Amino acid sequence: MKVTILGYWGAYPHQGEGTTSFLLESGDFHLLLDAGSTTLVQLEKILDPLVLDAVILTHYHHDHIADLGVLQYLRQLKPSAPIAELPIYGHSEDLAHFNALTLPGVSKGIAYQPQKELTIGPFQISFLKTVHPVLCFAMRIVERETGKVLVFTADTGYFADLIPFCQDADVLITDTYFLEGMEGHHAHLTSKETGLLAKEANVKKLVLSHLKQDVDLQELKRQTEEYHHHKIETHLAQTLMEIEL
Ligand SMILES: [Zn+2]
Ligand SMILES: [Zn+2]
Repeated sequence: MKVTILGYWGAYPHQGEGTTSFLLESGDFHLLLDAGSTTLVQLEKILDPLVLDAVILTHYHHDHIADLGVLQYLRQLKPSAPIAELPIYGHSEDLAHFNALTLPGVSKGIAYQPQKELTIGPFQISFLKTVHPVLCFAMRIVERETGKVLVFTADTGYFADLIPFCQDADVLITDTYFLEGMEGHHAHLTSKETGLLAKEANVKKLVLSHLKQDVDLQELKRQTEEYHHHKIETHLAQTLMEIEL
């Protein structure tokens, strides 16, 4: 499985770089995980967005869905667009947002059932409801052929169930929005919580994302590494960074 980061800022784009979006590839299957601001601009640098096979969304905050509408238009209006509707997986507890995933002839909203595992192409996905102001799901994504595991915390404050959910992941991508001192926040993790989570869950590689524009990012990374005792390879997310697992 290959993960390419298309955007990593929290809340709003910054200095030409966008908000949460990841391209997951396995074989010739292309899954978009969240579709933040500038997704299409970055995606077009590496492939034709028309080859996306599916999209899956953690939640419906704008910084995770900002480019969905233009992705639908691209599929609707680009002459070479395929006939098949693009499946867009999201939760259905927010009907206004869920219904907007469907554009007849272009895309089809599909409700995932968070208590069940979901198979999308080569991926097996399980879900964990996070601590966030709106309903949001962390995802544990297993590449079925290799057993490689990617966990994305999505947007979340800290809670203990994250530890077993992230256990032994090959790669953990987190929402590490705050420096140490904001622990117990209702929406996002701190560097300290991220470092401890990664250590407790014994993950192999850690990528800090959903970054905050006015935070000293080298300090964020340094604090995180201190809390996992420098035991885990740790990276700050960057646009078009590729992660092989
Ligand atoms: Zn967010
Ligand atoms: Zn959010």
